[in-house]
Amino acid sequence: VAVTASCVRSVHGDPMNGILNIRDLTREHQQEEQRSTFISVISHELQTPIAIIKGYASTLSRTDARFDAKTIRSRLLAIEDEADRLNKLVGNLLYASRIQANGLQMDITTLDLAHLIRSMVRRLHAKSPDVQVTLAIPPQLPVVMADRERIEEVLQNLLDNAVKYSPRRPEITVACYSTGEEVIVSVSDVGMGIALREQQQIFDRFHRVGEPLSQATPGAGLGLYICRAIVEAHGGRIWVESTLRQGSTFSFSLPREEKAPLPMVVF
Ligand code: ADP
Repeated sequence: VAVTASCVRSVHGDPMNGILNIRDLTREHQQEEQRSTFISVISHELQTPIAIIKGYASTLSRTDARFDAKTIRSRLLAIEDEADRLNKLVGNLLYASRIQANGLQMDITTLDLAHLIRSMVRRLHAKSPDVQVTLAIPPQLPVVMADRERIEEVLQNLLDNAVKYSPRRPEITVACYSTGEEVIVSVSDVGMGIALREQQQIFDRFHRVGEPLSQATPGAGLGLYICRAIVEAHGGRIWVESTLRQGSTFSFSLPREEKAPLPMVVF
């Protein structure tokens, strides 16, 4: 807290009254802390890909450089990967600031989750054949009311994280089941896991787990924040169950078709 005291005096200069001002600075300190976390996360996330792109581009463009076709291709692919990483970062920053400023505009329609999950897993297989994915989807899954594009974003973030935070060959299980009122989707991995004390904070903006292995993995701590905003805008919940060095299960729920709110703009 900040405390200031002042004295009210009469025209003759005699003290008449005292004013004590006590200001709670917790919020200001939190905002200041968030600002400095933002600057350090973003500058690190910008610097690394820029350094890689610049390094590769300048060696490839040297007039005396003699590289074989395989080396040239692998460096160009690395440049492309880093440009994608920058693109994703900028996209997530814009997304997060839109959430803060005006909430999310939703385009709610009926959604066949089983179909969406299968097509996303097929895409993941095509891109990363070494990732092992097991699907556990019952045959009669009820339809949900949801914004397809945004739920795809949530699933993509959870799948990307399951791969990113698995130091060995990623083994992922995507399960989907229905309770009385909701449909629940979960993405499990057998990766590095998350300590109990960090499990609530990882859904906050810019929060990244302090473990060295996690810090060494690229990321700006925005993906789960965006996932939570999307799921909550659908009237659902998102949560994690995890054991350090054993793996994590991220789950989210969506209301079933007949229970879902009418299409709306959520602020
Ligand atoms: P990031 O871009 O840093 O991955 P996220 O918001 O998606 O941002 O995740 C926040 C943090 O939560 C990550 O930095 C990481 O420390 C932790 N995390 C997320 N998913 C997993 C996972 N599947 N396994 C272990 N840690 C995870």
